Amino acid sequence: MKLKEIFQSISIKLLMMMMGMSIFTGFLTSSILTVHEIKEAEKSDQEKIVSMANILAPNLTAAVLFNDEDTAQELINPLKGHSNIIRVQVLNSDGGVIAEVNNTGLSIQRPNHLSFMKMPLIMDSQKYGALVIQSDDSEVLKRIDFYREFLLVILGIVFMLSLILAMLLRSYFINPILYLASVADRVTKTRNYSLRAKKVSDDEVGALSANFNSMLEKMESREQDLEARVLERTTELKIANEKLHQQAYFDSLSGLPNRRYMRETLQSMLRSQAENHRHFALLFIDLDGFKEVNDTMGHDHGDILLIHAGERIQQAVRKTDLVARMGGDEFNVLLMDIESAEEVTLIAENIHRHLSESFYLHNEHVFVTCSIGITLCPEHGDTVETLIKYADLAMYEAKNDGRNCYQFFSQHMLDAALEKRRITEDLRHGINNEEFELYYQPIVDLTSGRVVKAEALIRWNHPSQGFLKPAEFIDVAEEAGLIKELGSWIATTASKKVVKMRRLVDPDFKVSINVSPSQFKGSGKWLEEWFAYMDELHLDKSAIIVEITENLLMESEESVRENLLKLRDEGISIAIDDFGVGYSSLSYLQEMDVDILKIDRSFVDNLDKDSDSIVLCRAMVRMAHHLNISVVAEGISTDIHKNKLMALGCDYGQGYLFEKPMPADIFCTKYAEVQTVELLKQA
Ligand code: C2E
Ligand code: MG
Ligand code: MG
Repeated sequence: MKLKEIFQSISIKLLMMMMGMSIFTGFLTSSILTVHEIKEAEKSDQEKIVSMANILAPNLTAAVLFNDEDTAQELINPLKGHSNIIRVQVLNSDGGVIAEVNNTGLSIQRPNHLSFMKMPLIMDSQKYGALVIQSDDSEVLKRIDFYREFLLVILGIVFMLSLILAMLLRSYFINPILYLASVADRVTKTRNYSLRAKKVSDDEVGALSANFNSMLEKMESREQDLEARVLERTTELKIANEKLHQQAYFDSLSGLPNRRYMRETLQSMLRSQAENHRHFALLFIDLDGFKEVNDTMGHDHGDILLIHAGERIQQAVRKTDLVARMGGDEFNVLLMDIESAEEVTLIAENIHRHLSESFYLHNEHVFVTCSIGITLCPEHGDTVETLIKYADLAMYEAKNDGRNCYQFFSQHMLDAALEKRRITEDLRHGINNEEFELYYQPIVDLTSGRVVKAEALIRWNHPSQGFLKPAEFIDVAEEAGLIKELGSWIATTASKKVVKMRRLVDPDFKVSINVSPSQFKGSGKWLEEWFAYMDELHLDKSAIIVEITENLLMESEESVRENLLKLRDEGISIAIDDFGVGYSSLSYLQEMDVDILKIDRSFVDNLDKDSDSIVLCRAMVRMAHHLNISVVAEGISTDIHKNKLMALGCDYGQGYLFEKPMPADIFCTKYAEVQTVELLKQA
């Protein structure tokens, strides 16, 4: 402990104060007493000598008067051997010594402490001599020494007593306080508020301990209160955290882990994969036909289907595998510890098997299948992004393969996807740079042989790849959402050209344009704008035929029907393109009031090869005519095709036998001439 700290302690302070007080009081009292005693001793010595001198003076005066030295000597002799008188002299009027006594045996202790008294010897006011007494104060000094020693003893006793008193005080008052302080210190250090101070006395210190204990009690109960509250809050927080975790990592509909959970698990799998070299597989599952269920039965039933589908997938995989819902009708499965691709195949097939059984929804048995894309780790990728992206790509490939199947990822899928992205970029530039052109292929009236219509077919003058046919970019344009922009351009361009064709070739000339299914989805604002444009051109809308696919008729989306009806209302004819290869029913043809049916090229192509095609073509022509729909046969490339179709009663023909598609200017020039020649012939 440092000196400063020592002096800060109450007991030391108390000790110092008490000792100070005691010593001061003792010192003061003893000093006053000593001084008083010394003064008294001095005074009594002096008085003794004066009274002796007074007694001797009358006789000595007579002895001096008579110069009687012997008497004088006799008179002063008794003073010899007096304790503190050193010398006595009797002097005559001349100052001569007539009698003298020297106490030679007396040792002079302190020569500077000698006192000297000279008493004149007077009679009748006449001075006859003097009595001189020299004395020694050493007695007084002895007393002083005694008192000094006495003082020291007193001080020593006072010191000891105050020390004892201080120790007693310390043990009675300071120690209990120190004890309280140590308990407080322990409470602070251990935070144990259940500790209590012992009651050491019934006095104020005892009251202090009682107060201290009641304070501790309050603190303890507050602490317990606080702890209880903290516990309550912690529990609430835990529950909230669990809820948040549940929301963040689990899909609220199916209760399955969600995309985030899957990504993080994949991430940690990849991290550990570097050390343990475990192989795993990722399955990207998309339900086939889910949208139809959602559209036709409602979202509630769609939701139930998703929940059941999730359960079935879970039943189809192993306990160690992770099934997650990534959103919509997409599920991912992480197959842990895979030995071979065959093992993955077996699980994928098992998933198909489990999903192939019907789902019972809304009192109906619903069937859905799924398309599965598979990536293997580390074979196909080593990042979360690549594994998911490639599995997704493989899943699309499975969809394109006719759905209800699985596909392992392969490099060609990635190449195709990259190619698609490139085409998309080029398409954007192409639209801005007007790199597209419409070619027109004549449609011939098979009875008269006259070219009465043409089909507008898009071509792309690609800056680096040259002349591109629609098969190379239309699908991409549709997927990239660029078809609407392109479609509007096609519609307006074809409208402009048909005005010219009506002027140069035939006033009743018609142009058919191909419209993609996605163009019919949504508000159909482009249709309004197109109609307005045709009005500006003063073009009769009967000059336009819109070719749609069979499947569009089956589209359940309300906007599709509404937009088709808009065409109908404007007097634009509707043709069903590539008829026979899609799925449509006669009732739809009738309901939508279709005008033209275009028999797909595949049937025409086979007319000269097998007998089935002719049967099918005949059925199509008959059925169309029965519904008052005219028929165009596509892809007529030989006279056999043409003759057979004519024999079947087909109305129009289109194909390389007549003409290949050509630019508008060439078309106009060519058929204007033909027209003129015909007119001339008629004339
Ligand atoms: P589609 O509407 O069935 O058009 C007929 C296709 O058959 C055209 O191919 C045409 O050149 C081709 N063709 C006609 N006669 C014959 C023949 O005798 N033999 C052979 N081998 N082919 C013949 P193209 O121009 O390559 O168009 C392919 C498809 O691309 C079109 O089939 C149509 O579905 C789509 N398409 C073309 N232009 C457009 C367009 O402007 N918009 C949209 N959305 N799709 C278009
Ligand atoms: Mg067409
Ligand atoms: Mg066609």
